[in-house]
Amino acid sequence: MGQVAGTPPTHEAFWAVAWATLGWRVGTKDVLLEDLTVRHGTTLQVQTTGAMQPRWDKQLVFQQLAHSTSSGAAPIPVQHQPTMPALLKRMWRVKCGNHIKESYWRLVLDGIPTAARRRATTESCWCGVSGADRAHNFWHCPVAQRVVAEMDSELTAAAALTGRQHTPLVTTDVWLARPPGGVLPWLWRLSCMVAIAAMDMGRRMACKLQMGRVQHSSAAIGEKAGRAAMARLWDLFAEAASGRRLPSGQVLQEAQPFLSWDAAGGVWVPKRATGA
Ligand SMILES: [Zn+2]
Repeated sequence: MGQVAGTPPTHEAFWAVAWATLGWRVGTKDVLLEDLTVRHGTTLQVQTTGAMQPRWDKQLVFQQLAHSTSSGAAPIPVQHQPTMPALLKRMWRVKCGNHIKESYWRLVLDGIPTAARRRATTESCWCGVSGADRAHNFWHCPVAQRVVAEMDSELTAAAALTGRQHTPLVTTDVWLARPPGGVLPWLWRLSCMVAIAAMDMGRRMACKLQMGRVQHSSAAIGEKAGRAAMARLWDLFAEAASGRRLPSGQVLQEAQPFLSWDAAGGVWVPKRATGA
């Protein structure tokens, strides 16, 4: 590093060396910090070494929370529930940018600084709920519900084209990415990760407005955060489609939510314009 012994390296000098040398053992390969992908991260998570045990527990807690938040849904027998490692493997296989997957990854591992996680039990969400947890920020909060309503509306429209009827979504449909009838499984997995990222954007926007110097009414915060979440949702769909990495829609049997297949151009196109 060219540092004199005893002199601490600068921040930049430290990271220049750290990026190139820090890493993990993933399976039988060494992966450097700078090359770590979500897929590698998952492999790390599912490695059943003693050190990884807490991750397993977190995945189980997440799965149980998803089920307990799904009021009105028929419970799924344990043997028919996909295991979290199997589900996560399928999620990470979706061909989209890692930033689309990141919020979902954090949600599963309880890595989102919700009031509950920060043990800020008296802190109120803009909507009035104290000590908001994952179930609140990623399902019950009106900002999250606006994203769910958009998903329900897209599914209702797609189902109507094929004479199906759409049953309103419950938490497990989104958190555990259970595709509704007629929806391509990879498209549903993408949709769930995009939706969670959009909810996260709404949550962050609401926090920012609540903490800012300018006072906003709850209604104004809800409206602005909801709009930010909606813009994020459609922006991410547009981005995922524009990369031309998604599987072809050539053999499509049924209408799909969010994206439609443009056979002439050989591309998926978002059903709504992007941006707020
Ligand atoms: Zn709320």
